[in-house]
Amino acid sequence: MIEEKIKGVIRDVIDFPKPGIVFKDITPIMLDPKLSKEIVDHLVSIYKDQNLDKIAGIESRGFLFGYPLAMELGIPFVLIRKAGKLPYHKISHSYDLEYGSATIEMHIDAVQKGEKVLIHDDLLATGGSASAAAELIQKCGGEVAGFNFLVGLNFLNGIEKLKNYSNNITNLVI
Ligand code: IMP
Repeated sequence: MIEEKIKGVIRDVIDFPKPGIVFKDITPIMLDPKLSKEIVDHLVSIYKDQNLDKIAGIESRGFLFGYPLAMELGIPFVLIRKAGKLPYHKISHSYDLEYGSATIEMHIDAVQKGEKVLIHDDLLATGGSASAAAELIQKCGGEVAGFNFLVGLNFLNGIEKLKNYSNNITNLVI
């Protein structure tokens, strides 16, 4: 099972990035090209018949599997980045964090009206980042076709926030 394989390589890093946080480190997946390929193939099997128009990946670990998935599906990939990183005309969305706020951006021409976009990231925690990504898609007139994460930290209830945009929410690992 792909779930067990992923669980077998992800490691918990205690007190990162600050005391009290247990950070799920997914980087060992990238050291395993066979598993990486299996993950992409598995994602393709889930999404190949969903008539998606685009995949949007959230910086930066959302690019790792989002772009290969888009290429395998033969559809475009959209970069959602932290403020100040994208060079062209863009739209922004700001959202609250536990302390302070964050802003993400997307190029103005990346998503067209009516396009069905799957949002992908490595990990779902509170759902703040993925909800902000959904807001960007909607601001362009796009439709949030669903959300995909390699890992979902379900105890944080991020899924509840995302249901405001789509009920098509998949984590490979809980
Ligand atoms: P959220 O916005 O609270 O759902 O946090 C998810 C975002 O933070 C994603 O972009 C993740 O890459 C990152 N993140 C939060 N916690 C972790 C973790 O334990 N491991 C890897 N990424 C994390």
